Amino acid sequence: MIDFHCDVLSKLLEDRRIRFSGGEEGSLDVTFERLRDSGVLLQTFAIYISSGQSGTMDPIWESVDLFYEQVLGCDGMKLVTTAADLDDCLSTGKTGALLSLEGVGGLQGRLSMLRLLYRLGVRAAGITWNQANWAADGVMEPRGAGLTGEGRSFVTACNELGIIVDVSHLSERAFWDVMAVSVKPVIASHSNARSVCDHPRNLDDRQLEAIIQSNGRIGLTYVPWFVTATGHASVSDLLRHVDHICGLGGEKNVMLGSDFDGIDRHMSDLIHPGKVYLLRDELLNHYSSTQVSAFFQDNAYAFLKEQLPPA
Ligand SMILES: [Zn+2]
Repeated sequence: MIDFHCDVLSKLLEDRRIRFSGGEEGSLDVTFERLRDSGVLLQTFAIYISSGQSGTMDPIWESVDLFYEQVLGCDGMKLVTTAADLDDCLSTGKTGALLSLEGVGGLQGRLSMLRLLYRLGVRAAGITWNQANWAADGVMEPRGAGLTGEGRSFVTACNELGIIVDVSHLSERAFWDVMAVSVKPVIASHSNARSVCDHPRNLDDRQLEAIIQSNGRIGLTYVPWFVTATGHASVSDLLRHVDHICGLGGEKNVMLGSDFDGIDRHMSDLIHPGKVYLLRDELLNHYSSTQVSAFFQDNAYAFLKEQLPPA
C-alpha cells in the first residue's frame, strides 16, 4: 500500500507529547506500528500549518524537524527522496516516508526556501490549503482567483526541482492555471469525484479527465463528507468514487490519499491504516487483484518511479 496524504506532522506540532511510535492509544491514526503491521510501502507526511501561523517558515522548519526526529527516528522507516529509495523499501521491507507541503504560505514567494525544503527531502507540494495565500486561492476563498505571477513561478520551480505539484485544495481557477503552467503531471493527493459527492474539495469530471489525460494521479480520500453528502460513509460508498474515476478512463490513475490525522470524524470503517484492508476486500468483490493492486500501490509506485530523481 502507498498512501499519499496524512496529517501526522500537524498533530505532532500541535501537541509535543504525542509520539509517532509507542505512544498513547488513540492519539494518532497513523503510527509507526500500524504502518509496519499493515505492510505499508510508503506513507506521505504533509507539512500543514494552521491558518494563524501559516505566514512564516518557523512552523515549517519545526515540522521538518519532527519528521526527522519522530518519523525517521524509527528503525524501520526510511526517507524516500529518489526512485532508488523506493526500490530499497520494496526489497528491505522498510516503510518509506515521503515529505510533502500542504500550503506554501510560509515561503512568501521565496524560491530559496523551496530549494532548501527540497534539500531536506520535500518531494510534493500542495499550493494552498482552503484559503488564499501569495501563490493562489484555495477552494474556500470566495474570490476564487487562480495562480498569481509568483504562483506560476512556483509551479515552474517545482517542475524544475523535481517536486510533484499537488492540486488538492486549489480553487477551480487555480487548478486550471496549474494544468496550463505545469509541464509535468500533477496529483490530487486527497480528493474524490464531485459527480458522486458534490463537495467543493472534490474534482469535477473535467478536472478528473485533465489529470487522467496528463498521466497524473488521484488519491482517494476517506474524509466522510467527501465520500457522501450525509457524511456517513463506509468502504462501499468509496467504491462508487473508484467506479466513477475508472469510468472516465482513470484505472491507471487511482491511488490512495487517506487524510488520516487530518480529520476529526472518520468513515465508519476506515479509521486508521490497520483497517484499510476492508477497502481492499470491498474492491476485490468488484475488481481483479491486478486492478486492486494498481489502486493500492502500483499506480502510485509507477508515478513515483517516473517523477522522483533516479538516485
Ligand atoms: Zn488537506
